[in-house]
Amino acid sequence: MLYTSTRDKSVKVTSAQAIAQGISKDGGLFVPETIPAISKDFVDSLVGLDYISRAKKVLSLYLTDYTEDEIDMCVGGAYAKGKFSSDKVSPIKTIAKGENILELWRGPTCAFKDMALQLLPYLLTTAAKKTVADKTIVILVATSGDTGKAALEGFKDVPGTKIMVFYPNDGVSPMQKLQMTTQAGENVAVCAINGNFDDAQNGVKKIFTDKDVAAKLDSKGMMFSSANSINWGRLVPQIVYYISAYCDLIENGTIKNGDEVNVVVPTGNFGNILAAYYAKKMGVPFAKLICASNANNVLTDFLKTGTYDRNRKFFTTTSPSMDILISSNLERLLYHLSGENDETIREWMGLLSSEGKYTVNEEVKSLILDLFDAGCCDDKETAETIAATYKNGYLLDTHTAVAVKVYEDYVKATGDDKETVIASTANPYKFSAAVLGAVAEVPADADEFQQVELLKEATGEPCPEQLATLKGKSPRFTDCCNKEDMVNKVYEMLGI
Ligand SMILES: *Cc1c(COP(=O)(O)O)cnc(C)c1O
Repeated sequence: MLYTSTRDKSVKVTSAQAIAQGISKDGGLFVPETIPAISKDFVDSLVGLDYISRAKKVLSLYLTDYTEDEIDMCVGGAYAKGKFSSDKVSPIKTIAKGENILELWRGPTCAFKDMALQLLPYLLTTAAKKTVADKTIVILVATSGDTGKAALEGFKDVPGTKIMVFYPNDGVSPMQKLQMTTQAGENVAVCAINGNFDDAQNGVKKIFTDKDVAAKLDSKGMMFSSANSINWGRLVPQIVYYISAYCDLIENGTIKNGDEVNVVVPTGNFGNILAAYYAKKMGVPFAKLICASNANNVLTDFLKTGTYDRNRKFFTTTSPSMDILISSNLERLLYHLSGENDETIREWMGLLSSEGKYTVNEEVKSLILDLFDAGCCDDKETAETIAATYKNGYLLDTHTAVAVKVYEDYVKATGDDKETVIASTANPYKFSAAVLGAVAEVPADADEFQQVELLKEATGEPCPEQLATLKGKSPRFTDCCNKEDMVNKVYEMLGI
């Protein structure tokens, strides 16, 4: 199977090349030329298997230039026993009739990003051996909070790699910041920027596609790659857990193979929900894909009207990992829905960058309306949903709460109460202040770790050890730069 660029169909690369490179030279994203189909029997063959075995079978459909041994090594390393706090890796909890919470945050950094970022370093170093042998891979990451930590944890001290993370100085939770600034490892660096996530992401994309910067790195035996969800190596592991979740619902008797299931995803960069789209296109009987947003509801408007307009107020919310106005992975969806029309994608993405706005044609709009539903909610509704769901016995983080609220609105509006998978993207203790505020009184002067204690007292839920032990650690990385200076920070870190 080959991969092409959303902005230039003449590009043809292997999956290893796509993963090593991260983004196409034309600024487009790599997509598979054809989406592999799976049968009902294939799904049956996965039921009863563990996560690692399911992952091997699914990944081998997409990474056809990796040998079976390579895939075994990658998957076996990423999801080895003990790395995730559940033997199922991503267990399902049914919290009400039809509401099946898919816990994707059981990994080392307590957010769903671990599902892909534990695997990506293996995929990437294997790809590098196949394609660019002796180059040092420099991973640049723009993060709204969770990707940064998960990427640092995945790549720390991985031979042949260096990693640098940029995060918005005022756009991440205190726990997220501390997770990143205390990161261990000889090959890591972290820098705040004065700006929001979109500034960080645009800055990183610019550095990636700057020919002079690439030439300078090349002369030092280095090349860039990406650990953001623009990298195909981030998306493909996410397809696995949607297929696996469907199998788990069969296994626990909730559905029969072939039954339709809805999927709700709290969405920022459109990566996680796009993985559900790929699973559906492969043949998993997913019905509606429901996109949940916070007050930054650019996707809700787009999926309902066909006009993407980022010219709007940016809100800092209690679900910061979704505070995004430019959802990169939408480009992949539009490429597939436009009949793989690279010219159209160039036009729309050109308008997005020049005007901040584009409108898709009627054919694409009607395909979108068919596939997706969308909704949004504000911080107050998020808190109310955390409180109400907690009363029923389950503690949600802020992002997952947005998804649950949008799901409940969807059922009310449509009466469609099919079994539904709700992607749960973070452990509540990553966002202690907001979660605590929803279920109990917060003393005005309580710091992050007092809030953790109070949340423990109020709910009896255990705080993951990797978060609890951050208490008292002093930050190792305290740099903050303007977005214009990001490239110099990269040179500084690389010593070039
Ligand atoms: C990254 C993230 C999201 C958004 O995921 P996308 O793939 O960017 O849409 C939602 N919730 C949490 C907790 C996250 O870390």
